[in-house]
Amino acid sequence: MTATEIVSTEPATGAVLWRGASGDAAHEVAKARAAWPAWAARPLAVRIETLRRFANTVRSRIDAFADLIARETGKPLWEARTEVESVINKVDISVTAYSERTAQRRFEGALGAKSAVRHKPHGVLAVLGPFNFPAHLPNGHIVPALLAGNAVVFKPSEKTPATGAFLVDCFHAAGVPEEAIRLLVGGPDEGRALAAEPGIDGLLFTGSARAGMALHRQFADTPSKILALELGGNNPLVVWDTPDIASAATIAVQSAYMSAGQRCTAARRLIVKDGAHEPLIEEIGRMIDRIIVDQPHADPQPFMGPVIDNATADQVQERFLDLIMKGGRAIKQMARRDNALPFLSPALIDMTGVSNRPDEEIFGPVLQVIRVADFDAALAEANNTRFGLSASLVSGSPELYDRFWGSVRAGVINWNRPTNGAPSNAPFGGVGLSGNHRPSAYYAADYCAYPVTSSEAEQPRASIGVGLRDN
Ligand code: NAD
Repeated sequence: MTATEIVSTEPATGAVLWRGASGDAAHEVAKARAAWPAWAARPLAVRIETLRRFANTVRSRIDAFADLIARETGKPLWEARTEVESVINKVDISVTAYSERTAQRRFEGALGAKSAVRHKPHGVLAVLGPFNFPAHLPNGHIVPALLAGNAVVFKPSEKTPATGAFLVDCFHAAGVPEEAIRLLVGGPDEGRALAAEPGIDGLLFTGSARAGMALHRQFADTPSKILALELGGNNPLVVWDTPDIASAATIAVQSAYMSAGQRCTAARRLIVKDGAHEPLIEEIGRMIDRIIVDQPHADPQPFMGPVIDNATADQVQERFLDLIMKGGRAIKQMARRDNALPFLSPALIDMTGVSNRPDEEIFGPVLQVIRVADFDAALAEANNTRFGLSASLVSGSPELYDRFWGSVRAGVINWNRPTNGAPSNAPFGGVGLSGNHRPSAYYAADYCAYPVTSSEAEQPRASIGVGLRDN
């Protein structure tokens, strides 16, 4: 494949941050393929020690790393810092998860033999990352993959190559062999080429449902290769019978607009009781008016920055207009203060009664309000989606939460908490269009190694009790 130039610009200013040539998937996979047996042969304790050095390397560069992520994604500096902290914490979490999920187990077998369950790495794993958490999310695949003894070829999003390069450099600086973790710069073409490489044993993907489905089709002829898909959502937040309007509104604002709505777990639909909804909607409106949208290093720090680029801002604006064309009533209009930059204001729109509401993920700061008559209708509306990533209920009633938890199909179900911000020491993944039942985070250990069951005796000892003639 001929190299193309990849240019990363700062969303908040339009300044060029990084430029470089796209890489060659075959070359990177060949390097990783040659390296992985030696990496896998290192004792687990050595791999753990090397990854702990990686955590220390990142810690020593935290300011530079957070600054880079903030510049490249446009997210506020405070949020970029929490992302780098997640990168650091991933190592200890993965070590615990590895031993809990994929530990060696021995037990008594037949005829005095012992049985054992142990795990082996797959070999070379490809990792494709999204732009919205360009360090933390690919790192959530890379660390468990390396820990289990795999080599990795990592292709960051074409929108965040500088962050990807910084992350890989931290692994190399910490002593992970250069061949065991490879950087592949590029966009969807390089992603497709990497997925098609015969030398990979699997692909770990975080990104859109559209790309995830394309990869699923691409892998149809190779069921032998592991494919883990972490995809998007159209997540519901139900607010029901709660006297604490201020807290409910805060949870709605955090759920919908953190990271400028560019979180897979962001609430996209706010489901409320018709007739009792006005105080809540008014309070959310007042909070929206107070939200600071600004560049990542601004003082005071903003709540949210721009979306990732102008093309995305155009699309989100178009999708918002489309909701209005379909019959939605704008409660808070989406404003763009400068058409040359992708800063969008948080938008709120009442979509009650619009029958052809698209079941799509609008990856930006848009929250759709849907009023319903009773709690059964709220549950039906929460499940009125092909996705199933996250869902939250705000209500003081444990009985309602029991019903909500029991009926709603999603991989993250919260109570009186935002839809986003899942605990890092728990599995994370969705059902429906949100994934393919290979949850990540704490359960990433499961897809980074395969179990091997063995019956073992130190000497051969065998007899056949039935079905043989006498001598
Ligand atoms: P994206 O799907 O556009 O891109 C993700 C990665 O895949 C990039 O590296 C891209 O270059 C590559 N790619 C795109 N199309 C491809 C194809 N056909 N074949 C191979 N590679 C391809 O996603 P994005 O816009 O970077 O990220 C936002 C999306 O990611 C949202 O849908 C969001 O919900 C989702 N997301 C999911 C999770 C999760 O854990 N479930 C977390 C964060 C983001």
